[in-house]
Amino acid sequence: MNIEYVPTICPYCSCGCGIDLVVKDGKIIGQEARKEHPVNQGANCPKGKNAYEFLYSKDRLKMPLVRKNGKFKETSWDEALDLISSKLKEASPENFGFIASCRNSNEDAYVMQKFARVVMGTNNVEYCGRLCHSPAAAALIPAMGSGAMQTSQPEIELADCIFLAGVNIMETFPLIARRVFRAKAKGAKVIYTDPRKTATAKHLADIHLQLRSGTDAALINAMMSIIVAEGLEDKEFIASRTAGIDELRSFLSKIDLKQAEEITGVPLEKIREAAITYAKAERGCILYDQGMSQHYVGTDNVRNHANLALLCGHAGKPGSGINSMRGQINGEGSGDMGCLCVFYPGFKRVGEETAKFFEEAWGVNNLPTKPGLTYIDMLYKCPYLYVVGGDPAMAVPDVNNVKKALEKVSFLVVQDIFPTEIAKLAHVVLPAATWVEREATHTWIDRRVQKINKVVDPPGEAKPDWWIICQLAEKMGYKDKFDFSSSGEIFEEIRNCVPQYKGITYERLSHMIGGIHWPCPSEDHPGTPTMFLQKFNTPDGLGHFQAVEFKPPAELPDDEYPYVLTTGRSIFHYHTGSMTRRTPRLNDEVRRGFVEVNPEDASKARIKSKDMVTLETRRGNIEVEAKVTDEVPPGLLFVPFHFAESRANVLTISALDPSAKCAETKVCAARMKLKR
Ligand code: SF4
Repeated sequence: MNIEYVPTICPYCSCGCGIDLVVKDGKIIGQEARKEHPVNQGANCPKGKNAYEFLYSKDRLKMPLVRKNGKFKETSWDEALDLISSKLKEASPENFGFIASCRNSNEDAYVMQKFARVVMGTNNVEYCGRLCHSPAAAALIPAMGSGAMQTSQPEIELADCIFLAGVNIMETFPLIARRVFRAKAKGAKVIYTDPRKTATAKHLADIHLQLRSGTDAALINAMMSIIVAEGLEDKEFIASRTAGIDELRSFLSKIDLKQAEEITGVPLEKIREAAITYAKAERGCILYDQGMSQHYVGTDNVRNHANLALLCGHAGKPGSGINSMRGQINGEGSGDMGCLCVFYPGFKRVGEETAKFFEEAWGVNNLPTKPGLTYIDMLYKCPYLYVVGGDPAMAVPDVNNVKKALEKVSFLVVQDIFPTEIAKLAHVVLPAATWVEREATHTWIDRRVQKINKVVDPPGEAKPDWWIICQLAEKMGYKDKFDFSSSGEIFEEIRNCVPQYKGITYERLSHMIGGIHWPCPSEDHPGTPTMFLQKFNTPDGLGHFQAVEFKPPAELPDDEYPYVLTTGRSIFHYHTGSMTRRTPRLNDEVRRGFVEVNPEDASKARIKSKDMVTLETRRGNIEVEAKVTDEVPPGLLFVPFHFAESRANVLTISALDPSAKCAETKVCAARMKLKR
């Protein structure tokens, strides 16, 4: 019997926990949490404990599929790529769009954006980070110089106040929650903003600010106003490391605290307690996620939390800062690699100078210099679409309208590991290798670059994403620009183009358990766990305040639609569910969608737990099982977004953040009735 223990990293959230896979005769038969891995130190959450079963699902795509007379037929790689190449030659830079994903590796994502820019001549390239964490870059690049997480995961334990802003951390990042528990055991206070009374509220928070969904800006303005009135701002830090305080002070002097209490629904004394606790801390660490940022005012919300951090001097030291918590395995890396219509790799902004840099680096001419279309715009405006690893037919707000647009696309290619909802609409479907079926790097939440080795062969004819794109580029006449024979060769090109990755090599990564944090400027540099120790990355090196006016959500309840509907995640499922719902032990925990309803509302509507109810908004309706619970306050309904049969995004509104183009999936008006 030939049994091996092969170290790898969990394929789910962006913590990047180590696991050992048990491999017997070329097949994975078990797994264990990796004890010596610095991220998880021998623990995994439920998803991480069940990381590999989906690999062996009968649904895996194994052959290229081409739609003929309305039905998919298996075909060869040669035939599928010839067809795609001939169709894409008909497309123009304006009407072609490439959508990558947070699940692609760095090497995959790099090759995808290069394909869009070099072969198709367009900046119409995006990834699903646009739909969740784009406010980080939009708000934090002007404020501090980078949208990435500012401290490392272990350093969170150094904080003496941890502000969890819209992140139900116990369900969404369980291994970071463990660090918050450890900080708490040493005396740290935990402030938590969430309209729901989640496990995080019950078991971790010292101060739960149960605000009305979408009122974060009003809450933070009130906190800052109290801090300034009490003289608790960090005057030395403000004087030496920031700009714009006078404008902020003048704005805060007009804040009406009574009005803030009414808007947020949080008692003023609790706001005061949170403000003083955060301001008096030595190291305050803001960890935030989509509950705070996935609003049409998401950029404003992130900007305002940055104001709070700068005001109290809680940035530029280990265990502090404002830290965006990207939810998927390569949420950071796919952005670093340039899968955004306004950034080339390394967050170099689209423009003449950047195009010139990459023309030299890639040996090409005429790279696009104007910003491309954003994710949702591409779905509506591009008749030629190439989608890898994501499912816009599930993950995008107002999804019924998106589906109608997708049905009209002239040519849609989908590259994935499973027949996703969007794959059902495709003209060509290409089978991709998954995480341990190829060698690659990813960049996890705290800018931690780790390498994953190939453990098993992909099924059938499935291939690594980068290989597929390079083969297609060759068919389209660009072999010399995509002549990569391994992911390692791609990574060498990344190192030359992306200064943050310059000192990271495959060789170094294969010896370093836990990887290296970028920026890493040279091969003898240890990496950078904490950002901005001496100065911010802004042109003048200072942190910049910018006052934020509160704006109410785009759609509020009324007589017709009297509830606020909000969406989120379950600990047992991952994103659109394509992997976890094919993992029996996870799927058995939560088999279908549900809506959380407060007992008061349930009683008025004569609804009991397990009743089927119809939820309706101005966009559409779904049927789900009711779960009556006081985890939601009266007037609020909560639906998880993992389930294709009860797609939460049928209901959500398509109002977009004007700067980041992120969608408002956390608030819309809804009604509910018992299904007869
Ligand atoms: Fe995997 Fe995230 Fe769970 Fe760690 S916390 S085991 S990375 S899902």
